Amino acid sequence: MTDCLFCKIIAGEIPSTKVFENDAVFAFRDINPQAPVHILVIPKEHIGSCADVNAVNSAAVAACFEAISEIAKQEGLDNGFRVISNCGADAGQTVPHLHFHILAGTQMGEKLL
Ligand code: 5GP
Ligand code: ZN
Repeated sequence: MTDCLFCKIIAGEIPSTKVFENDAVFAFRDINPQAPVHILVIPKEHIGSCADVNAVNSAAVAACFEAISEIAKQEGLDNGFRVISNCGADAGQTVPHLHFHILAGTQMGEKLL
């Protein structure tokens, strides 16, 4: 998508701190980290959010989770990490390109909200 912030990051048109890339997935550090480790994992294929995942594009989601496992090893997240995907307005999604937040490096609360 031409007017999508994360598609522009994948294309290198907007700089980012890359931590992982393969044919299907790109991952980079969040510009406004909410934990000592805060990485965004995104499919290279433009998918708007979890609400747009279907049987045709779900392989891209599987690829993201395979990447998450790799990134956790690469970053040494042996103590654990949290994966979050905000979907839509009520969840506070601000960038309409499917992304998974990896949060780690601190003891997080038991509750999400
Ligand atoms: P959301 O709020 O949609 O779940 O998450 C979007 C995330 O993208 C936010 O955590 C925000 O800090 C991050 N973000 C927004 N713009 C940029 C950017 O230009 N570069 C990077 N690295 N992260 C960004
Ligand atoms: Zn996009």
